[in-house]
Amino acid sequence: MTARIIDGNALSAQVRGEIAQRAAELTARGTQPCLAVILVGGDPASAVYVRNKVAGCEKAGIRSLKFEYAAEVAPDEVFARIAELNADPSVHGILVQLPLPKQFDAEKILEAISPEKDVDGFHAENFGLLLQGRKSFYPCTPWGVMKMLDTENVPVKGAEAVVIGRSNIVGKPMAVMLLSRGATVTVCHSQTKDLAFHTKRADILVAAVGKAKMITGDMIKPGAVVIDVGMNRDENGKLCGDVDFASAKEVASLITPVPGGVGPMTITMLLANTLESAERTAK
Ligand code: NDP
Repeated sequence: MTARIIDGNALSAQVRGEIAQRAAELTARGTQPCLAVILVGGDPASAVYVRNKVAGCEKAGIRSLKFEYAAEVAPDEVFARIAELNADPSVHGILVQLPLPKQFDAEKILEAISPEKDVDGFHAENFGLLLQGRKSFYPCTPWGVMKMLDTENVPVKGAEAVVIGRSNIVGKPMAVMLLSRGATVTVCHSQTKDLAFHTKRADILVAAVGKAKMITGDMIKPGAVVIDVGMNRDENGKLCGDVDFASAKEVASLITPVPGGVGPMTITMLLANTLESAERTAK
């Protein structure tokens, strides 16, 4: 079997087109959606992510504000900026790019953002709502994955789903979303004793680890849907996922590539959350 590839770029383009249309309608009614992005320090990867987010906003007709700080900035200065943006009714989404320099307590920073403007979906209040199955801003990466599964009509209800990784931003919310939709979910992590035992049972396998090509074809159930969230560099410095694409695609029925899979969907869902926040305030 050779898996069909889920094209994250194509799906992203389609969803961003719909977002742009809704953003234009809202702007015509007097509310232009606006995302404020805060970048602290000179981490090159973070700078690229922020650039892509700002460019994504521009293309979708969403206004963006960018605030950059040197790595040694006092946390109070950033807290003050967040307070100002929380109070500004023309700002609908606030995002602080992670990671932050060591003088920052990232949790405190994320919780300073008003839950109503937390378009990354990382605030404890929004995470709690997600756990209770209530409406919140969904974290962008797992929400992008759910969008991919739905677009491909992958049956989630009753499926055996295995999520590898238990971070607050990807693994845990991914597991909760699959659980809410009726999957039987197993979460694996660095202490899991026999990873392949679990992965081989998965109808839906989501890898969110950060280890290049660690999931090989022999760890995958024939016909499984394989979603690769990982973003790593291989031995030649080339971007690759957590899944060994060459061997996995011979076993899976559907698979996401890296690049061009989950990555573009993450920014797309950030735009969707910003638009939704603006629509809520305009009601
Ligand atoms: P974290 O480092 O926060 O979490 C990694 C998880 O993997 C941890 O739960 C860890 O377990 C687990 N893990 C580590 N080693 C193993 C192992 N050998 N076997 C099983 N589990 C293991 O990473 P993130 O969740 O932030 O990101 C994961 C990956 O996804 C990264 O490559 C990141 O770059 C990428 N990413 C991609 C995005 C996209 O848009 N495509 C967005 C966000 C992230 P433990 O908890 O026990 O330490």
